[in-house]
Amino acid sequence: MPTSPPTPPRVADLFQDPRRENCPWCGSGNLRTRARAAAPGPGDPGMFVMDQCRACGHAFQNPRLTAEGLAFHQLDFFARRLDDFAERSLSPGAVRRRHLAAARTILPLAAEPESWLDVGTGHGRFPETAKEVFPYTSFDGLDPTPRVEEALRAERVEEAHIGDLTSPWVLARLRSRYDVVSMFHHLEHAPNPRAELRAALAVLRPGGHLLIELPDPRSAFATLLRRWWLPYGQPRHLHLLPPANLCAELRARGCEILTTDRRAPHIPYDLSGALAIFLTHVPGPVRRAAAPLLAAASALDRALAPLLRHTCFSNAYRIVARKPSAPRQRGQAT
Ligand SMILES: [Zn+2]
Repeated sequence: MPTSPPTPPRVADLFQDPRRENCPWCGSGNLRTRARAAAPGPGDPGMFVMDQCRACGHAFQNPRLTAEGLAFHQLDFFARRLDDFAERSLSPGAVRRRHLAAARTILPLAAEPESWLDVGTGHGRFPETAKEVFPYTSFDGLDPTPRVEEALRAERVEEAHIGDLTSPWVLARLRSRYDVVSMFHHLEHAPNPRAELRAALAVLRPGGHLLIELPDPRSAFATLLRRWWLPYGQPRHLHLLPPANLCAELRARGCEILTTDRRAPHIPYDLSGALAIFLTHVPGPVRRAAAPLLAAASALDRALAPLLRHTCFSNAYRIVARKPSAPRQRGQAT
């Protein structure tokens, strides 16, 4: 009896883990789908789903991309273009002001840190600017890409480390070396944010400071724009942590939360980002014709930002925590 040949698996299926039925953060099975989106660009890239836990608010890609899938999409032209869009949504001057403001949050807490590691540093733009606030601090950079070596050549960092913070060889080299560790929009890319936080605390000295900025999945823009909300960032973003979850996790590890800011870290790119995602799905001539519309949306984002950053529409937050200075007591979470 003739049989039809088996259907070959799609590229997207080969790159995804099995779908989870419970929250990777708290274990609750009470999930809802917040965004269902095709990967940007033409072809058959598969669907990506951002689920959110009703119990704790954690949002996560489900099913999650494998490491190979992530590597594939990081090289993908359209996914890269959205990354570029997120970076270009702020002028160089605005990026510099944001970096200065973030660095200054450490100033009253640690006047002269000797050593600072910027995790996910890319081209080292943050260390370059933060040196204006901390001229005597030694800034190192860690990034999974060779961009950090360019940062070293440009003398924006004093040491460049390529890899993941959680990898044993990186941890062995950097353990307890730093007075400050910063992570700007990095944790959302980490396959295991808990392991990433544990590693960040491991490379801090006792009493050191951890500075984190992240998209806020509680932003009203997430509810309003759903699959068009840039920080859902499919397929590149794996986890979005609400601030309460991040603070609770750090406290469980003995840290003290020193500052929480939901205003200053707001990035004015929600409306223009939604349009940019839409435009990755239309033919090239339409995309080019829509350029003035994109510029107008961007101008509107910037015009609204001074107001929106004070409301539930703020799309990001910053937390500074201090690692305990005493050795951990038995019975505390590890
Ligand atoms: Zn949960």
